[in-house]
Amino acid sequence: MRRRRRAVVTGGAGFLGSHLCERLLTEGFAVVCLDNLSTGRADNVAHLPRLGPFEFAQADATTGVPVAGEVDAVLHLASPAAPADYGRLPVETLKVGSLGTLHALELAREHRARFVLASTSEVYGDPLVNPQPESYWGHVNQVGPRGVYDEAKRFAEALTVAYRQRYGVDTAVARLFNTFGPRMRPDDGRAVPAFVQQALRGEPLTVAGDGRQTRSMCYVDDLIEGVFRLLGSDHPGPMNLGNPHELPIVDLARRIIALTGSPSTVTLVPRPIDDPRVRCPDITLARTVLRWEPTVELDRGLRRTIDWFRRHLDHPAPQPAGDHKGAR
Ligand code: NAD
Ligand code: UDP
Repeated sequence: MRRRRRAVVTGGAGFLGSHLCERLLTEGFAVVCLDNLSTGRADNVAHLPRLGPFEFAQADATTGVPVAGEVDAVLHLASPAAPADYGRLPVETLKVGSLGTLHALELAREHRARFVLASTSEVYGDPLVNPQPESYWGHVNQVGPRGVYDEAKRFAEALTVAYRQRYGVDTAVARLFNTFGPRMRPDDGRAVPAFVQQALRGEPLTVAGDGRQTRSMCYVDDLIEGVFRLLGSDHPGPMNLGNPHELPIVDLARRIIALTGSPSTVTLVPRPIDDPRVRCPDITLARTVLRWEPTVELDRGLRRTIDWFRRHLDHPAPQPAGDHKGAR
C-alpha cells in the first residue's frame, strides 16, 4: 500500500494556513502545522484532527522547523501579513522571512520535498507597472514602514531560488495577492475585516485617503486552489496568484455596506505611508501553467465572509435592508 503523503505547513494556524491545512487533509495528506501563534489562532485549526492525520506544533520557525519523520512537501507561510501586524512585529517579520525561510528550506532539502514559499504582491512595492507581471522588479521603499515585510519576502524569494540552484531543491515561489475570507482575524486591521465589522456594527467605514487606491481581492477558496495546483506542478515560479478584478477601495467599502444592509457611511481617514496606489495581478502564467483562475465573484466571496463574521462576532447587528435579506 502506498504511504500517505505528509506536508508541513508553517504558519498553518493563520488565516490562509488553516485553509491550506484543511485542503491538504481533504486531499489525503497527513499534515503537520507549525505555528508560534503570534498572529494566528489555535481555534483556526481546532476542527482539523477530525478531517485526517493532523499534528500541531507550537514553535517559532525562526529558531528551526523541527519535524521528525517523512516529509513530502513544505509550505512556508509563517509570517505576519497584515500591515498592522508587521508594523508591530518588524524584527520578527524580518527574522521569519530570512531565518525561518532558511530552516524551512533546509527541511525540504533534507527530505527532497517539494517546497512552496508564500511570497506576496508586496515584492512589487508601490508598483509603477499595472497590472504586475512576474517579470516586474518592483518599486520598494526598504526603509519605509512596509520595508520589513517587503524586503523579508524579497530575501525569502532570493534564498528559495538559491536553494534550487545550489542544492537542487524542488522549490516554487508563489506571489499571493490580497485574499479575504472566513478566519481573518477581526482585529488585524486589513480592509475586509475592518469594513465588515464596521458595517455590522453600524459604524463609519474608515476608508484611507480618497479611497481611489486599488486592490484586487481574491476569495480564499480560489487562492488555496491555486497554491494546491502549484504544489502539484513542478513549476518554480515566481507565479502570481490572485484575482485580476481590480477595484478602488472606496468601492469595496460601498459593496460591503450594501451587502450587509448596514446604515453605515464612509469616513475618510489618513492614508498610511507608502500605501500602494494600485495593485492587480497579471495571472497569465498561472492560467497557462496551472489552468487556474479565480471563479468566486467578489460579492459571493464577500457574502460568505460577512456570514462568517456575523456568526463569530459579538456585536449588535443592524437589521439587513430588504433587498439583501437572505442573499447568501
Ligand atoms: P496570518 O497572520 O493569518 O498567518 C500567518 C501565520 O504565521 C500566523 O498563524 C502566525 O502565528 C504564523 N507565524 C508568524 N511568525 C511565525 C514564526 N516565526 N514561526 C511560526 N509561525 C509564525 O496571515 P495570512 O494572511 O494567513 O498570511 C499567510 C502567508 O501568506 C504569509 O506568509 C503572508 O505573507 C502571505 N500572504 C498573504 C496574503 C493575504 O492576503 N492574506 C497576501 C500575500 C501574501
Ligand atoms: N484600508 C482602508 N481602511 C482600513 C484598512 C485598509 O482604507 O480600515 C486600505 C489600505 O490603506 C489599503 C487597502 O485598504 O489601501 C488594502 O489594505 P489592507 O491592509 O487590507 O492590505 P494591503 O495594504 O496589504 O494591500
